[in-house]
Amino acid sequence: MTATTTPEADVPLIAGHPVLDFANTVAWRTDPKRSTERVTGPVAWRRWAAAAGLPAAPGTFAGLPALRATLWPVLDALVDDEPPPEDAWHALMEAIRRAREHATPQPVFPLTRRPSGPADALALHAEELLSDPALLPRVRRCEGPGCGWFFLDRSRGGTRRWCSSGDCGNRARARRHYARTRGRS
Ligand SMILES: [Zn+2]
Repeated sequence: MTATTTPEADVPLIAGHPVLDFANTVAWRTDPKRSTERVTGPVAWRRWAAAAGLPAAPGTFAGLPALRATLWPVLDALVDDEPPPEDAWHALMEAIRRAREHATPQPVFPLTRRPSGPADALALHAEELLSDPALLPRVRRCEGPGCGWFFLDRSRGGTRRWCSSGDCGNRARARRHYARTRGRS
C-alpha cells in the first residue's frame, strides 16, 4: 500500500474500541490511491496512545504498524464473515502470545495483566475483542467507498453504516442527492 503522511493530524477516535481505533490510524485504508497514514513517528504515536487510553512506555511504538497490518485482514474477514487469512491470523496469535508472556499480572480481582507497552496492550485488547461473543457481531466496516474504517455498532437496531455521519455519511447523502437531481434534469 502507498501511504502519504500527515504527521500533525490528530486522529478522531470514532470506533468505540481501542483495537478498531488503532486499525483506523490509516485513512482511506481500502483505497490505495488515497490511503493516508494518520499517525507517524513516536511523538504522534505517544499522543495517540494516550488519547486511546493505552500505556505509553517510551521506545515501544516500533511494533505498531506490523501489528496493525495483521489486524486489518483479520477484521476484514470477521466483517465479511469469512475465515481469517492464515498468515495474518498466525502473526496476530503470535503477537498475543508474546504480549501475554511480557505482561505483569496485577494483584487485583478480577485478575488483570499490565502490558509492557502499547503494542502489547493492543494485542491483549485484540484477544479480548475476538473472544467476546457480545461484541463480535457489532464490529462493522464503514460503507463509504475506500474508507475501510471499523467501528462497534452500538446503535439499538444495529443500523450504523458510517464511520461518521458527518463524514462518509454526508458524502453518501451528497451522492444520493446528486443522483436524484441529475435524474430530474
Ligand atoms: Zn467512513
